Amino acid sequence: MSAVSQLSPGLWQISLPFLGEHQIIGSYLLAGENELAIIDPGPGSMLEPLLAAIREAGFDPQDVTHILATHVHLDHAGAAGSLTRLLPKAQVYVHGLGAPHLIDTTKVVASATRIFGERTQLLWGAIEPTPFERLRIIEGGDILNVAGRRLEVHYTPGHAVHHVIFFDTQSGEMFVGDVAGVRLPGVDYIRPPTPPPDLDLEAWSESMELVKRLQPEVMYMGHFGPAKNATEHLERLREKLYAWGEFVLEAMRNGNGEAETITLLIERTQPELQRAAGDAHALQRYEIATNYPMTVQGYMRYWRKKHPERL
Ligand SMILES: [Zn+2]
Repeated sequence: MSAVSQLSPGLWQISLPFLGEHQIIGSYLLAGENELAIIDPGPGSMLEPLLAAIREAGFDPQDVTHILATHVHLDHAGAAGSLTRLLPKAQVYVHGLGAPHLIDTTKVVASATRIFGERTQLLWGAIEPTPFERLRIIEGGDILNVAGRRLEVHYTPGHAVHHVIFFDTQSGEMFVGDVAGVRLPGVDYIRPPTPPPDLDLEAWSESMELVKRLQPEVMYMGHFGPAKNATEHLERLREKLYAWGEFVLEAMRNGNGEAETITLLIERTQPELQRAAGDAHALQRYEIATNYPMTVQGYMRYWRKKHPERL
């Protein structure tokens, strides 16, 4: 399978072979007018495949001028710091609430090491800081003229408090990061990625309403690829986001701890994915994109932090 496919004039999709699996983590490459932009460069462990894919698309990575991050989670922007070291013309565009995690990666490295232990390096590679002078802070309402396109920046918190999307109003193409959830190619199943620490169901819901109002022709997801029919897609995601949340809340109210709640959520939700996917490998692929332990940790933290009155 090729790592690179052209989606439209001046736009390529890059599939990063994370843990050897294609079409789980995606980056997008925009080219035009002497500018080259990467949207969500992916994890540091995928640096070499990313650069190879840019060459495969017919470009020199040294010509990359813009790195746009929908948010700074490691699977989306872990490579940002390393890229600024390797690509002298590249500037990193990120929301102000995400910027501190790129400038000083100490906390990110510590929490990744706490969660992933000795697998941290294998999963995420180097997590290098981005020099302050290579950062450009963006916020909702900004317009970025990048690679011959006019991209609107919209602030879309919920999955992460610093999440933004990039919308090309001319073509109707929207780069949505994780706002539209996880839906892997060939499987008709949309799963909510709900990691700690920022998960906020109300904010995410509002962000989905915003996307619907903007009426994108196509949403390009981080995990993975194009999704049309934004309204229907986001309705389905919203339903699951809340249903899973209520399920976790109920489990907590019944006195279950984290480990039991994870088991209960798997028992409750996995059969539907299994029916949609048809094979065990697809289950593993969804688990790579967004795993059950983090899902439960995200919800539990959300309920304790935002709605202690319901516990
Ligand atoms: Zn994320």
